[in-house]
Amino acid sequence: MTNEQPPLPSITPLYEPYYRYTRQHELRMQRCRDCGHVRYPFAALCPVCHSEGAEWSRMSGRGAVASFAICHQAFHPWFQSRLPYNVALVDLEEGPRVPTNIVGVRNEDIRIGMSVEAEFEDVTDEITLVKFRPRGPGGKQDNPAH
Ligand SMILES: [Zn+2]
Repeated sequence: MTNEQPPLPSITPLYEPYYRYTRQHELRMQRCRDCGHVRYPFAALCPVCHSEGAEWSRMSGRGAVASFAICHQAFHPWFQSRLPYNVALVDLEEGPRVPTNIVGVRNEDIRIGMSVEAEFEDVTDEITLVKFRPRGPGGKQDNPAH
């Protein structure tokens, strides 16, 4: 362990509820009160029906890998000792496609369409990041290196 921190998101008013829930290890997103569309990225208006009404609805945490890349170059010093690392897009069951990292599996074993489930990584007192690990058969392998 070191005192170094990864680059972290800044918490804007629009995203404050999201991070408040992730700190409690709950994955919640804005769901439109009028048409039910799950809004991501978060926004003041629904992109489907333009309603302002929304509630922070709890997501199942389940999804599938839509795309991923393996980074071999550190774009921030924090990543230097963590190369190569993966960056992925996961399609949640409820619809949103979210940027994340896949954990609990070797980079070379990540596959498009792989079923994954959310887990929470407390990075600071303020920021808990949502990562995903494989679920189902073969999905319980732990990678202590991560
Ligand atoms: Zn709507």
